[in-house]
Amino acid sequence: MEKGTWRTMQQYCPNCSRKLTGVLNDRGVCKMTCDRCHAVIVSSAKNVRHYVVDIKMPANI
Ligand SMILES: [Zn+2]
Repeated sequence: MEKGTWRTMQQYCPNCSRKLTGVLNDRGVCKMTCDRCHAVIVSSAKNVRHYVVDIKMPANI
């Protein structure tokens, strides 16, 4: 990653509404883990108008 290209993303956990902060990598993918409910949220920006969020819930709920 080049210097100065860090992009952060903030969103709320879809499961428990905790505020999460993640860093996008060079492909526009941001992986966040909720420290309250341990859901894994993978956000990816396909382009400026298309935005995909994957939510993986922990197995023990
Ligand atoms: Zn959560």
